[in-house]
Amino acid sequence: MSLDFSTLFLVATLICTLLGGMLLYFGRQEKIRALNWWGCAYLLGAAAVAQWQFLSPYVPEIVVLSLASAGFIACGMVWNAARVFHGLKPNWPGLVLGAIAWAAAVVSLPEELSSLRVAIGAGLVAIYAALTAGQLFAERRKTMKRQWPAMLVPLLHGAVLMLPIILAELLPTQGIGTSNNIWVLIFAIELVLYAVGTVFVIFMLVSERTVRAHKTAASLDPLTGLFNRRGFSEATARMIEREAEAGRPVTVMIFDLDHFKSINDRFGHPAGDEVIKLFAAIVSGSLRMSDLCGRIGGEEFAALLPCSIDEAMTAAERVREAFENCGLEVDGAPIATTVSIGIAGGPANIELEVLLAAADTALYQAKRGGRNRVVATVEEPLSLEQGRRRAAQRQEPRQQVIARNAMSIGA
Ligand code: GH3
Ligand code: MG
Ligand code: MG
Repeated sequence: MSLDFSTLFLVATLICTLLGGMLLYFGRQEKIRALNWWGCAYLLGAAAVAQWQFLSPYVPEIVVLSLASAGFIACGMVWNAARVFHGLKPNWPGLVLGAIAWAAAVVSLPEELSSLRVAIGAGLVAIYAALTAGQLFAERRKTMKRQWPAMLVPLLHGAVLMLPIILAELLPTQGIGTSNNIWVLIFAIELVLYAVGTVFVIFMLVSERTVRAHKTAASLDPLTGLFNRRGFSEATARMIEREAEAGRPVTVMIFDLDHFKSINDRFGHPAGDEVIKLFAAIVSGSLRMSDLCGRIGGEEFAALLPCSIDEAMTAAERVREAFENCGLEVDGAPIATTVSIGIAGGPANIELEVLLAAADTALYQAKRGGRNRVVATVEEPLSLEQGRRRAAQRQEPRQQVIARNAMSIGA
């Protein structure tokens, strides 16, 4: 099989142009700036490849040099797109440095050293590929797992470009730089695979981020920014498991704002929302970083603390006092803001539902006792498993009596 270089490069150019247009289209549609960077990089890269293969004999040398430099800017844009995608600012000096280095090499190196020029060019592209892979790796450590293709694609690209240079050193007779060299063929094929592979990686990253954003939104309360009920139970399940492994107790609090309906009735729903937001800020500001809190209902909040019930009582009292003394006013009129708090603590390995039910009972007592107070359960709540065992023990003597009676009837 014989492969025609020009056809291969034409295909590479067309594929890069098509993918560039597609990336720009999705970038505009989804309002993702990094996709615009990637799209422009593809179009610029396509222009650079086109001039290299098709235009260079017909245009002045300065145009050839500028378009070839544009190829290095395209590589810099791929790296900067990865930076922008991960919330960093574009690195402008880094973006143009490769192109400047290339232009300087072409201007200063004589024609006879064309293979050195090619080596410098390939080296610059490999550096950009390594920077892109490094950026994706840094992000992978923070948030993503099993995303090895994101780093593998640019790394392979860099490796393919560097390989002929290393081989040229080892096998000088196989020098690089001649147009009919096998490496030019490999570059053309690799270029197509890299262009398509990178778009695959880009869409993988974008879709992973979108899924993550939806998951986060599904577990947060939009008014307060705290966990909603679902987010709270997911996060607390992890904490309960971790504390159970360490054999440490956990404590749950339920907060219910007092006479909240009358705040809504007197000052309006928006004012009620402000009170809810204020209370959320007070709870998260009064608890430790290691504690979890969430809004589990309209004006009901809950928190899980990895500590004993006595320590939690102090924290709850702090929240109650801070809310009572927050000095909230609407149109110059002070609003009485108080909260009732129910607390339940349990041994390691206790289920969240059991703790919440026990804390709810304590909250009911706080309301009945006059509100604006903290009440803790006196009895340690039983885990579902313990509860079942205790109930079974209570059943046992009765069953034995029934069995004995049955035997005596049978006898
Ligand atoms: P108690 O002291 O017994 O807890 O009395 P309460 O008035 O706080 O309790 P009740 O359950 O009677 O009323 C809760 C009110 O909270 C009713 C509902 O309209 C209001 N509410 C629920 N969610 C929101 C919300 O997101 N914003 C506002 N502004 N009000 C809400
Ligand atoms: Mg309520
Ligand atoms: Mg209430």
